[in-house]
Amino acid sequence: MHYIQGSRREAMLAMLSPDARHGTGPLARLMQEGGLHCVFQPLADLREGSIYAHEALIRGPQGSPFHTPDVLLELARRERLLLDFELLCVFTALEQWGQSDAPGRLFVNISADALVHGVTLLGTKALGETVRSLGLSARLLVLEITEHERVTDMPQLREAIKAVHACGARLALDDFGDGRSSLRLWSEVKPDFVKIDKYFIHDISEHPENLQMLQAIKGIADVFGTTLIAEGIETRDDLRALRDLDIPFGQGWLLGRPAAAPRDTVDMPALEVMHDRRVAVLPHLGQAARPGILRSLLVLQAPTVAPSSSNDAVAAVFQQHTDLHALAVVDGTRPVALINRQQFMNHYATLYFREVHGRKPCLAFANPAPRVVELDCDVDQLMGILTSQDQRYLNDGYIVTDNGRYLGLGTGDQLVRAVTETRIEAARHANPLTFLPGNIPISLHMQRLLDNGTEFVACYADLNNFKPFNDHYGYWRGDQMIRLVARLATAHCDARRDFVGHVGGDDFMLIFQSSNWLQRCKNIVDEFAREAITLFDEPARQAGGIEAEDRHGVRRFFPCTTLAIGAVRITPGRFRHAEEVANLAAVAKHEAKQAATGVVLHGGFTESSLGALAAARALQDVLAA
Ligand code: C2E
Ligand code: MG
Ligand code: MG
Repeated sequence: MHYIQGSRREAMLAMLSPDARHGTGPLARLMQEGGLHCVFQPLADLREGSIYAHEALIRGPQGSPFHTPDVLLELARRERLLLDFELLCVFTALEQWGQSDAPGRLFVNISADALVHGVTLLGTKALGETVRSLGLSARLLVLEITEHERVTDMPQLREAIKAVHACGARLALDDFGDGRSSLRLWSEVKPDFVKIDKYFIHDISEHPENLQMLQAIKGIADVFGTTLIAEGIETRDDLRALRDLDIPFGQGWLLGRPAAAPRDTVDMPALEVMHDRRVAVLPHLGQAARPGILRSLLVLQAPTVAPSSSNDAVAAVFQQHTDLHALAVVDGTRPVALINRQQFMNHYATLYFREVHGRKPCLAFANPAPRVVELDCDVDQLMGILTSQDQRYLNDGYIVTDNGRYLGLGTGDQLVRAVTETRIEAARHANPLTFLPGNIPISLHMQRLLDNGTEFVACYADLNNFKPFNDHYGYWRGDQMIRLVARLATAHCDARRDFVGHVGGDDFMLIFQSSNWLQRCKNIVDEFAREAITLFDEPARQAGGIEAEDRHGVRRFFPCTTLAIGAVRITPGRFRHAEEVANLAAVAKHEAKQAATGVVLHGGFTESSLGALAAARALQDVLAA
């Protein structure tokens, strides 16, 4: 089948090089015979759920080995027809789009070199006219620059870009983040759109690193005034996360696969997500576990000595580098020992040392088991050093390696400072006991829900009679009980909808979008009651509690620890600030504690009246259906 008909096709072929017109390779033949066609994939407005544009994607004959663009592009390279092929792709896309009569914008792929080549061939003035003659207003055309590594001539590209802008067409940068030169191209080209590569989008809801990357890309887009498009959206969770991150446009199989004809709506599952006001629970990057904190530390690029170096040579290095606290002995690239300056120089200064030991190898006066720290270690490993028996690192410092290779030295006080600072920062982000998100992420999540106008239920969970338990059994058992709350709350929440945060001590915040939040809370309370009892000893279990001193120092009986949850339902528009919600949830917690156990919804509902309320709602739903 010929997709491009008659004289237009002749005119198009006439623009190609003689090699393309007369070549005998499989691609040259396809090009001559009109065997290429485009399919169209929608790009959607993620807020509105409407179709924003289509991208044209080239295809060879269906069922042939030349169907996919990857194969076609590889053939083009082999037959040395890349520029011809790419131009023909653009013409094919424009021609087919013009014939389809579809409204809206068209995104077309082209490499920078092919763009330069095309503009040179047509002349800068004729660009808009050519586009129009194919049935499309240049204002609706967006050229996606692919293969960023292939930009060879920047000044020429700039000229071509001027011509593109002059005719009213716009530019996009395709697959951003895929290559190293993308960022430079972004600042040079100043495209109207940047399409973020699917690598960053895939499973975004489970990859906090990619999420941070995306936030960084958003920051750059703000600086340059660029509109972002997320590529490769395959799942509802990914779409939800992107929408909540305010990425304006998206493309991917969930919204619509490439197809022969343009379409006027996105696929149903995507539409459902876009019309759902619930907010995604974004993955939390536990700062405490973040590796590579040494990268922000100073690594002293200190000289080294070999195992065979003499003590005289070591002394010479110390004399030359007066600020060096230690010297690493390195065998090839591998550190094997560390020589402490002060200890070594004390020896070296003693009578006859030089005469007896001066020319002997330095290893005898070195620490053969020095602290070696990998550049990529996380803060917990550094904590391990601080709390270890061997405290020599305080004087000797430590050796920093990158993949086992010597990199430099660090000092003990630097280490202490870095760990303390990271810990303090981490505690604000994640609770060090449970690793659950702390106050900052809790507030941020609530604020996102409020800003989005989403209905949710904020629950403040707190233990009854925890203090006497903690005093009686010690903080270690107390920590176990707190971790139990964390484990149960996490297990009974839907990770994609509900958020579990740890405010501190025995206080937790559960933020529900799940409609069956009440049942989930009840399950947490019930399971906690069953499991917490095992943390008490037998006599306490028998007695149903323990004897302990109350706040006034008076001994009295305290029942076994239970969990109380105070809940507040937050309807859209009721509050503006997360703090207001937190305060009200604290009031609800108070009410729940007064009721001694179970779940209380602020406004005077107890667990049993809540159950009745839920049943009445369910009945209403059934009657309404
Ligand atoms: P691209 O421009 O980034 O196009 C997107 C590619 O991702 C398309 O593959 C599309 O089918 C695929 N895709 C779309 N949604 C999803 C998704 O949700 N998940 C996954 N895994 N993939 C998705 P396709 O059509 O095979 O094109 C591959 C590449 O070939 C394009 O990447 C583009 O660089 C190049 N290409 C395609 N058509 C043309 C063309 O006409 N001219 C030029 N120069 N290059 C083209
Ligand atoms: Mg593309
Ligand atoms: Mg792409």
